[in-house]
Amino acid sequence: MKIQVPEAAGRIIEQLNTHGFEAYVVGGCVRDSLLFRTPEDWDITTSAKPEQVKEIFSRTVDTGIQHGTVTVLMDGGTYEVTTYRIDGEYEDGRHPKSVEFTGNLTEDLKRRDFTINAMAYSDREGLVDAFHGRQDLEEKIIRCVGNAKDRFMEDALRILRAIRFSAQLGFEIEEETKMAIRGIAPNMAKVSKERIQVELNKLLLSDHPQRIRAVYDNGIAPYISEHFHAAGRRMGETGTLKLLPAQKHMRWSGFLRYEKPEEAVLILRDLKMDNETISHVKTLVTLWKQEIPADKPVIRKVMSGLSPELFKDLLCFKKVFCRESCQETLKQVERYAEEIIKDGDCIRLKDMAVSGRELIEAGRKPGPGIGAVLDVLFEEVLKNPECNKREYLMNLAEKL
Ligand code: ATP
Ligand code: MG
Repeated sequence: MKIQVPEAAGRIIEQLNTHGFEAYVVGGCVRDSLLFRTPEDWDITTSAKPEQVKEIFSRTVDTGIQHGTVTVLMDGGTYEVTTYRIDGEYEDGRHPKSVEFTGNLTEDLKRRDFTINAMAYSDREGLVDAFHGRQDLEEKIIRCVGNAKDRFMEDALRILRAIRFSAQLGFEIEEETKMAIRGIAPNMAKVSKERIQVELNKLLLSDHPQRIRAVYDNGIAPYISEHFHAAGRRMGETGTLKLLPAQKHMRWSGFLRYEKPEEAVLILRDLKMDNETISHVKTLVTLWKQEIPADKPVIRKVMSGLSPELFKDLLCFKKVFCRESCQETLKQVERYAEEIIKDGDCIRLKDMAVSGRELIEAGRKPGPGIGAVLDVLFEEVLKNPECNKREYLMNLAEKL
């Protein structure tokens, strides 16, 4: 059993060993390597205490020293090195009251959430798999380390993590673990919305975004938020979500496409989503049901209200969710949109041949009236791009 550990991570392990400490790569990177997936990051677990880690490496950052984590900078990469630890009692289903360092790797692996996340590896020792993670990987099973109910009571976020991993990996949740999820679901109310958002994002961006249903089917949704729960009743077909590009705003819009735009916004606000994503979702949820005829003036008008990227996203979205009978029109709309861009048709107010300042210079009174005139001119230009000439527009403005 050999895992290709990045050179820098291997050197960190070796140096810790040289100083008499144990060290392994651990958790997600071991799981992903065994699945031939590319790990996002390589975490290292060690018997060395944080102070000792800091003495050994010249460049370190105190990332979470109270939890035993020091970030080591090596070869331009960063590696989180965490001391073996036993998590103390969880006070409130959120934070362990205390963490206790230990010299025993198995104790550290025991505190981890799922068997597939509880394996360690080093070139020296090979795979350390005290909880049969490898077998569960082969059988495609998500199973808690130890008693599932206890583990979810310690930290209810693990409930969502179980569903998120099942969506990322296409695994099933083992029966006892599933029962425990249903039983402990109410504890999700104690988990911070930010942490919940991270998990829901990963779930929706995964290869199996339709598993968002499991959040509802297992009775978790009411404890995420009232608005989120209500969305379950209007959720459309979820099998098509994976046809959308794996981008946050696209997958969330797909999931919330039957919501009223204001409802979608409330759901995302509850989850402390960033404003840019909220704004894009609101736009897509508002616009996707509106028909765009294969008519250049209308297409220009739609384009004028959106960034080029978001207009593309809208067409992509409509392709995935609109009826078969609309698809021909959509293709024509796409071709027209390409022409509009290629021909350089004016679709932005700022690209119009006449500006507010010029109207004022020509003698028009400054004030809100200017905006109204510009709007009329712009409508004209959207209808007919040849009209985007200074003289023509100035003439037209005089008549208004
Ligand atoms: P990802 O691909 O999302 O990074 P990961 O498995 O690396 O997946 P992280 O959140 O980065 O997940 O956590 C790293 C490791 O820490 C996990 O593999 C697991 O062993 C442990 N872990 C993380 N969160 C928890 C938790 N809430 N409870 C118990 N163990 C956890
Ligand atoms: Mg990770």
